[in-house]
Amino acid sequence: MTIRLFNTMSRKIEEFKPLVPGKMGFYSCGPTVYHYAHIGNLRTMIHNDILKRMFLANGYKVHHVMNITDVGHLSSDDADSGDDKMEKGAARDKKSVWEIAKFYTDEFLRDYDDLNIIRPTDMPRATDYIAEQIDLVKKLEELGYTYEIAGDGIYYDTSKFAAYGQLTGGSLTGNRAGARVEYNSDKRNPTDFALWKFSPKNEKRQMEWNSPWGIGFPGWHAECSAMSMKLLGNHFDIHTGGEDLSRIHHTNEIAQSEPITGAPWVNYWVHFSFLIDKSGEKMSKSKGEFLGLDSVRKRGYDPMVYRYLILLGHYQTQLAFSWEAMDSAANGYKNLVRRLADVLANTVPGEFSESDFVTWKDKILAPVSDNMKTAESLVQIQNLLRDDTISASTKIALFEFVDDLLGLQFIDRAKKINNLESMTVPDDIQKLADARAAAKASKDWGRADEIRAQIENAGWSIMDTPNGVKIIKKV
Ligand code: AMP
Ligand code: ZN
Repeated sequence: MTIRLFNTMSRKIEEFKPLVPGKMGFYSCGPTVYHYAHIGNLRTMIHNDILKRMFLANGYKVHHVMNITDVGHLSSDDADSGDDKMEKGAARDKKSVWEIAKFYTDEFLRDYDDLNIIRPTDMPRATDYIAEQIDLVKKLEELGYTYEIAGDGIYYDTSKFAAYGQLTGGSLTGNRAGARVEYNSDKRNPTDFALWKFSPKNEKRQMEWNSPWGIGFPGWHAECSAMSMKLLGNHFDIHTGGEDLSRIHHTNEIAQSEPITGAPWVNYWVHFSFLIDKSGEKMSKSKGEFLGLDSVRKRGYDPMVYRYLILLGHYQTQLAFSWEAMDSAANGYKNLVRRLADVLANTVPGEFSESDFVTWKDKILAPVSDNMKTAESLVQIQNLLRDDTISASTKIALFEFVDDLLGLQFIDRAKKINNLESMTVPDDIQKLADARAAAKASKDWGRADEIRAQIENAGWSIMDTPNGVKIIKKV
C-alpha cells in the first residue's frame, strides 16, 4: 500500500520511497536520562512506534535506532552552555551520573514496555560512542568547518555550510529568534554550536574523555550524527523527533553530517507535536513538575488508555492533556474491549472469511499508511465491531492485525475481562451449564441447544473450547 508522510524538510506530505526496496531504516532521538520520562516524551515514543508498526504491517523490514543521551546535554536552548543536565540530576538524586543514567534508562524502558512500544533494533548510549563522536569532529576539522574558542570548546562554523537552517526555513540569524539565553559572543555566528566542550579548568567532571583537543565531552548534537551513521549508514530513510528538535538539534545534526556523507543525509524528517497542559504549556522535564506514566498507573488507568488517547489525536497536532480527556479515553477504550470480549465469547470456529478479512484489513491500514491517521483507523475498528455481517472468527483475526498495527492489546484485555467474569458464574447458570453437559453426554442435542438458549437469554455465553467449556458474561 502507498505510504505517505509529512516531510518537515519539504513541508509537504510525500509518498515514501525506500532507499532499499522492502526496507526502512530510521533514527529517532531518544531520552536524556537525567530524570523520569514524562508523558510528553512518551507521546513521541508512541508515535515512533506507530510509524514502525505501520511499515511492518506494509511488509517492510524495519531497522530502528534510538539513542540514549547520557552525556553532553546542557540546559540552554542550544545545549551549548548552562548546567549539565546529567550532573545536575545526579546532584539532585545524590547519586553518580553513571548511576542515574542507568536508573532512568531502566525506568524509561519500563514505561516503554508498559505502553507496548516495540524496543528499537539498536539503542546506543552516547557514552559508548565517544570515539565515533571524536572521529566526526576530526573529519569536520579536516574539512575546515571547525574553530576553537579558548577555554570553551571546538565549535562548528555554520557560515561554512550553505544549506544551514534549511530544515525549518531559518537563516543564520533568524534561527536564533526567540532564544532565551544570550549566546556566547565568542562564537563567529550566533548559530554556531559546540562539537566538543572542554572540561572546566581545575574541576573534575564525572564524565570526561581525552581527545585531540583536550579533556572534555562531546556536544549534544554529535552523538546522533555519529551513531546514526555508524548503525544505519551514511544515508538512511527517516529521522524523527519531537517538534522542538527541528530548529536546533536536527538542524545542527544535518550541518555536521552532510559535509561528511553528502546530501541528502536523511530522506524524510518526521516531527511529532507536543503534549501540552491545559494552559497551553509544553510538558517539560526541566520545569521540574511533570506527569510521568507512574501518575497514570497510580490513578488506576491502564497504560493502554494513555496510548489510546494519543492515537485518538494526530501527530501533527498538539494535544492538551487532562484527566477528563483520560476518562473519556478510558471509556472509549473499555467499550471497544467489552465489545471485543463479547465477540470472543461467541466465537464459532470455521467461519473465517478471507475476502472480508482482506477488505477490512485494508480499511484499517489505509488511514495509518496515509500520514499516520490513527484516529480514522479507530473509527474503522468501531465500524467493524458493529458490522453484523462479519463473522466472529474474521473479526478476531482482524483484531490480531489491529493489535500488531496499533499495539493497543485489545485481545489481551478482552480475554482478561472474559476470564475475570467467568470466575463468578452464578449458581443457576452453572446448573444450566451442567444440565447442558449432561444432555450433550446423552447426545440429546435438542435439549442441549434449548439450555444454551436459556443461558444466552440470561445474559451469559457458553462456549465449547479445546480446553473445556467456558461461560462468559455478555457485555
Ligand atoms: P528529552 O528526553 O527531553 O531529550 O526528549 C525525548 C524526546 O521527547 C524528544 O524527541 C523530544 O522532542 C520529545 N519531547 C519533549 N517534550 C515533549 C512534549 N511535551 N511532547 C511531546 N514530545 C516531547
Ligand atoms: Zn538527536
